[in-house]
Amino acid sequence: MAVPKRKTSKARHRKRFATWNGNVEAVKVVRCRSCGGVHRPHVACPYCGNYKGEKVMEPRAKEID
Ligand SMILES: [Zn+2]
Repeated sequence: MAVPKRKTSKARHRKRFATWNGNVEAVKVVRCRSCGGVHRPHVACPYCGNYKGEKVMEPRAKEID
């Protein structure tokens, strides 16, 4: 019978189980207050360049229509 030569380390075990189904969350998205576009939270909206209602940068993505 095949027997493991070494005990599986905690790090190895945890690395293996870290990517199990359910442990990896989908990327969260929120709606922009200004234009209603969908973008990641805590990040300026790429469609209109607004963050918390203030314009902080030039839009990077194309307009959504
Ligand atoms: Zn926006």
